[in-house]
Amino acid sequence: MALMTSAQYVESLRRMDRNIYFQGKKIEDPINHPLLIPSRKCLEETYDMAFMPEYEDLMTATSQFTGHKINRFNNIHKNKDDLNKKVKLQRLMGQRTGACFQRCVIMDMANAFYSTTFEIDEKYGTDYFDRFKRYIIKCQEEDLIVAGALTDPKGDRSAKIGGEDQDKDLYLHVVERRPDGVVVNGAKAHLTGITNAHDVVVLPTQAMRPGQEDYAIAFSVPLDAPGITMIVGRQSCDTRKMEDGADIDLGNAVYGGIEALTVFDHVFVPNENIYLNGEVDFAGMLVERFAGYHRNSYGGCKSGVGDVAIGAAALIADYNGTANASHIKDKLVEMTQLNELLYCAGIASSAEGWETKAGNYMVDLLLANVCKLNVTRNPYEIVRLMEDIAGGIMVTAPSEADLRSDIVGEYVKKYMVGHNVDAENRLRALRLCENLALGTAAVGYRTESMHGAGSPQAQKIMITRQGNFEQKKALAKRIAGVKDE
Ligand code: SF4
Ligand code: FE
Repeated sequence: MALMTSAQYVESLRRMDRNIYFQGKKIEDPINHPLLIPSRKCLEETYDMAFMPEYEDLMTATSQFTGHKINRFNNIHKNKDDLNKKVKLQRLMGQRTGACFQRCVIMDMANAFYSTTFEIDEKYGTDYFDRFKRYIIKCQEEDLIVAGALTDPKGDRSAKIGGEDQDKDLYLHVVERRPDGVVVNGAKAHLTGITNAHDVVVLPTQAMRPGQEDYAIAFSVPLDAPGITMIVGRQSCDTRKMEDGADIDLGNAVYGGIEALTVFDHVFVPNENIYLNGEVDFAGMLVERFAGYHRNSYGGCKSGVGDVAIGAAALIADYNGTANASHIKDKLVEMTQLNELLYCAGIASSAEGWETKAGNYMVDLLLANVCKLNVTRNPYEIVRLMEDIAGGIMVTAPSEADLRSDIVGEYVKKYMVGHNVDAENRLRALRLCENLALGTAAVGYRTESMHGAGSPQAQKIMITRQGNFEQKKALAKRIAGVKDE
């Protein structure tokens, strides 16, 4: 069974005994909790769409290990075409959900692990590559959702990793070594989609140095392993999901992303699931390759959500009766070119991909970082223009309960109408704008655009490294006729 149905996926989650908290209380029934459902609906789409003939080419791939048809989110890229389809798939899913659909982290981590473990084995004679290959084949065959854990809480950023000046657990690390595995302590922050995943893959937060061997640890564990606690992050307007009769107020009542602070309190990891264990010189490669893939991903997912934002702006312009104003048309064009630039960079970084020693394909790191650096900017301008077009009513409109009220409902219906549109549909369009700009989708569209896959400074460091300024100086010198002494 290499492809699960969404119903089988939900059943598989139901069988897990997970430790999830929100607002200080354990969520006893994660399957039916209204806060967790929109996240799961995004993930369900990744299963449902794999069975739709019109999306099969993007949603599925053929495994080079088993020859089976698998979900593309668990694919190891065999060529540049796979890299290209990955970005197209992400744009499609962003368009479909208007949210972070949360399944890409494993695709990006798995490909980083695949090539890096090969190179670790080459240097140290370890057997991480075969272990990881067995793991990814299991993910493919069982069609698992795997969350990825990168970012440590860090505490005081000026303190040394593993130093005595702050709690060592602020960076996840090995606290006990046993013949059959290791025990780890620590936490990982803002783990996308983790409350609806089966497993989590963990890697170091950054490059490590000699002396930090206990922190250079990478592994996978099921999310119902003893010692794992997920504490769901607050999102603005999140409790609207828990109100009855507030679908309009949600703006996007079906889909949404979720993140959680995830604590690893003395979690045992068997040897079979360890893919880096003290080889400090490879922690940086693992992080850099994962970040490269994920920065390429943002050219797809964020342009897909951007399409929804542009659509919402165009729709509300129609409803406000402003669609023919030249400044509105100009703003929509500006939003579109900003959005397509992100896609261009995503596709370009795939098209310039290269084959790793392990045989899978890596994206072009310079172009992927340029892509993500623009993602830290363009969605903000797109949202600003969308808010401009929508008008202030986007954040001051009455609720669905008022619309349905026997007492004030008639007023809402009378005064919220627009151009050829009733109050209800106009409110729906306005709330979608609010959701994308300030509501739960803003986590995945605005702030995630800034900080997801690394904050802008991380991209600038990579661009500095990959920019090849010496080669560019040589070009300038040649044309200027500069003769070196
Ligand atoms: Fe996928 Fe984008 Fe969400 Fe990352 S931010 S998991 S690439 S949708
Ligand atoms: Fe993300």
